[in-house]
Amino acid sequence: MAQRQPLIAGNWKMNLNHLEAIALVQKIAFSLPEKYFAKVEVAVLPPFVDIRSIQTLVDGDKLLLKYGAQDLSPHDSGAYTGDVSGPMLAKLGCSYVTVGHSERREYHHEDDATVNKKVKAALKHGVTPIFCLGEQLDVREAGGHVEHCTEQLVAGLKGLTAEQVRDVVVAYEPVWAIGTGKVASSADAQEVCAAIRVKLAELYGEDVASAVRVLYGGSVKSGNIAELISQKDIDGALVGGASLDADEFAKLCALA
Ligand code: PEP
Repeated sequence: MAQRQPLIAGNWKMNLNHLEAIALVQKIAFSLPEKYFAKVEVAVLPPFVDIRSIQTLVDGDKLLLKYGAQDLSPHDSGAYTGDVSGPMLAKLGCSYVTVGHSERREYHHEDDATVNKKVKAALKHGVTPIFCLGEQLDVREAGGHVEHCTEQLVAGLKGLTAEQVRDVVVAYEPVWAIGTGKVASSADAQEVCAAIRVKLAELYGEDVASAVRVLYGGSVKSGNIAELISQKDIDGALVGGASLDADEFAKLCALA
């Protein structure tokens, strides 16, 4: 059975300019003891415009914190105004990129086929995709959440080899829990994360399924992280709102 290192990733969404980003990263990095980072991986996912400043800070001060982006283009380069590519993120030292976040699916109409292309683009350039999936409230109320999430999983990973899937991080983010303060119960989160692992085993083998990290995201705070992460199939969290407050985020990480 593979040992999965927990990952706490802070999704800043469209918040903080590069000066505010530097201040927040410094505060987080120095709030946690160095030895903590050997146990738990911590990443921040700022807006694109902050990444270069964070890279300079992380490299200059040899911080153990990782960083990444919130989206990438499925294309490597070309006439795609406003987009940012995998090679650009790789050059900036990004370890992670979120793909298929529900806000991208809703506001930018990203479908499963686009998400699949973006997962492939990230892997191609050595940036680990944090592949987000999750159901809307009506789907959960109708009892279709497990099926919905496993369908999104299959579609997002379509065409990947087992070795590639091993490098993907999956984030289960029920849409009704994102930014609402309504966290899924640990049992509800575990149910879907376990179903994701079962589906990964069915498609890519037990070995890959036990190596892939599955995160939970949706109103995670210092008050609920411990219970969520104690679940067998939850390997960390994707954190939105609570990642913008250094004290709260560091407290949350320390409890993970
Ligand atoms: C997110 O943006 O991925 C998220 C989980 O947000 P929040 O923690 O604010 O619900």
